[in-house]
Amino acid sequence: MRFKVNVDRELCKSCGICASICGRSAIKMNSGFPELVGECVGCRLCEFYCPDFAISVEVVE
Ligand code: SF4
Ligand code: SF4
Repeated sequence: MRFKVNVDRELCKSCGICASICGRSAIKMNSGFPELVGECVGCRLCEFYCPDFAISVEVVE
């Protein structure tokens, strides 16, 4: 399976928690918003720790 992350920019407060918590270092902040730059393994930690429900993980195949 492959995964991607979706970010709701209306909800995201650019705190960077998702980038910090990702054990794969797959998320980097870019212009204040998280961007997937590495391989996401679908653990959903970013989704779980986001205080604003702004990021979600989606299976793409
Ligand atoms: S943890 Fe949530 S609010 Fe914080 S930067 Fe990530 S998506 Fe945005
Ligand atoms: S689901 Fe896990 S591996 Fe994927 S970006 Fe979020 S924390 Fe990182």
